[in-house]
Amino acid sequence: KKPPARKGSMADIPEDLMEQIRGLEVLFTVSPEKLRAVTKHFISELGKGLSKKGGNIPMIPGWVLEYPTGKERGHYLAIDLGGTNLRVVLIKLNGDRTFDSSQSKYKLPHHMRTTRDSKELFEFIADSLKSFLEEEFPKGTKEVLPLGFTFSYPASQSKINEGILQRWTKGFDIPGVEGHDVVPMLQREIAARNVPIEVVALINDTTGTLVASLYTDPAIRMGVIFGTGVNGAYYDVCSDIEKLEGKLPPDIPPTSPMAINCEYGSFDNEHLVLPRTKYDVMVDEQSPRPGQQAFEKMSSGYYLGEIVRLTLLDLHDQGFIFKDQDITKLKEPYIMDTTYPSKVEDDPFENLEDTFDLFQKDLGISTTVPERKLIRRLCELIGTRSARLSVCGIAAICQKRGYETAHIAADGSVFNKYPGFKERAAHALNDIYGWGIDDPAKHPIIIVPAEDGSGAGAAVIAALTMNRLREGKS
Ligand code: BGC
Ligand code: MG
Repeated sequence: KKPPARKGSMADIPEDLMEQIRGLEVLFTVSPEKLRAVTKHFISELGKGLSKKGGNIPMIPGWVLEYPTGKERGHYLAIDLGGTNLRVVLIKLNGDRTFDSSQSKYKLPHHMRTTRDSKELFEFIADSLKSFLEEEFPKGTKEVLPLGFTFSYPASQSKINEGILQRWTKGFDIPGVEGHDVVPMLQREIAARNVPIEVVALINDTTGTLVASLYTDPAIRMGVIFGTGVNGAYYDVCSDIEKLEGKLPPDIPPTSPMAINCEYGSFDNEHLVLPRTKYDVMVDEQSPRPGQQAFEKMSSGYYLGEIVRLTLLDLHDQGFIFKDQDITKLKEPYIMDTTYPSKVEDDPFENLEDTFDLFQKDLGISTTVPERKLIRRLCELIGTRSARLSVCGIAAICQKRGYETAHIAADGSVFNKYPGFKERAAHALNDIYGWGIDDPAKHPIIIVPAEDGSGAGAAVIAALTMNRLREGKS
C-alpha cells in the first residue's frame, strides 16, 4: 500500500492561507540531517541510561535472561492493561514456534484512567480474570495458572515479578501507584477472589513484542510500539550494563543476555535536539506531567490529534481559518484523537468531503475547501514528522549494538492503522542511513508487523521464568 497521494491541487488556495501552509511546512518538516543529529544524540543518551549515574532514558533491565528457543510449551495466562481495554488471553505454546490463543476484552470504565482509588483498578482486573477463567474452565482448574502481566508504563524491576511504577504516561493519572510495586497490588485482589492464578512476570509491551516476535522469527532485534505511546526493547549483554554492576545474582553470568525496556519516550526531556514547535511546548505544559516524555509527546498517537487541534486553534485565533464559526468544541483539550488526522489523511475525495463531514458532525465547524486542504497538509506534516522521529530510536539501538541488518518487530495503533506510517517510517530509515534504496523490502533494516506481544510474548516470558524457577535459577 502506497502512502496516500495528496489529492487535488493547491492552486485554488488563497495566498494568505498558502503562506500559512508554507510556514507549517517549515515548522513540521524534519530533514535527513536533523534525523541524523537526533539519532546521534539518542545513541549517547541510551548509553547514559545504562550508566550508574543514569540519564533521561530509564533503560530498565527486564530480567528476561534468555532468548526464546521456540520450544517453550504449556498453558499460560496473559493480561494487557491498555488505555481502553483490559485484554485477557489464554495461550498454549506448542513448542514448535507456534501457539494457539483465546482471548476476551473487558472495557475499562471510562473514569478508570484517572480514578482516585487505585484499588479499584486492581479489583477490576481481578474481577475480569475471574470471569475469564469461569468461561474458559467451567469446571475449574486443577493447577495454578502462571500469568504474565503486560504493564505498558515505565516500571523499575529488580526481578521479573516486580514492577515499581516510575510514573504514569499516556494520560493515566491514578494516585497511590507511582513508587509502588504493582505485582502485589494485583496478586492481593486475585487472592481475595480465590482465583488460581500466580503473577509470575511483569512485562513491558515492547519486551513482550520483542520476545513474541523472536519466538517466531530469529532475525528480530528489537520490539517497538508506535501506538498511544512510543517505546522500544532490545537485548543487551549484562556485562555492558554498567548500572547492574554488583546487582546481578551470582548465578547469572556476565555474558547473559538481558532484555532492556528502554522507555525512550522520555528521550530529550532536556530539549536539546528535538525540533519542538510552540505547539509541542503547549502540549507539554498542559499535560498532567510537564517536562516528561518529550519524544513521546511529539510522535505518539496520544498526542497527534492534540497537536493538530492546537495548530488549528492558533490559526483561527490569528484570523486565518474558521471565520465566523463556533469553535467551542475545538477549544476542548484532546477532543481530536488520532482518528482525526488519520481520517483526514484517508479522505479519498479531491475536495475532502469526508473531512468536511468530520469537522461538521463532530466539531460543529463548516470548513471551506481551502481550509480543508490546509488541514490535510497539516495532518500529513504531523503524521510524517511522527513517523520520521519515531524511527530514530530504532536507528540508535541498531547503531549502538552494531546491527547492520535486522528485523524490527513493530506493533501499536499508529503503526497498524495510521495511513502511510509504515512507508514514511521506512523512508526515514533510508534517509538516516543513506542506503539510497527505494524498495523498503530491500532495506537492510526492515520494520515488520509484530507477533502478539502481550499475548504470546507474555506467555513465552512466563514460560522462560517457570523454566528458570524449576531449574532453581534466580
Ligand atoms: C510507556 C511505555 C510503553 C509505551 C508504548 C509509553 O508511554 O511509558 O512503557 O512501552 O508507552 O505502549
Ligand atoms: Mg498497548
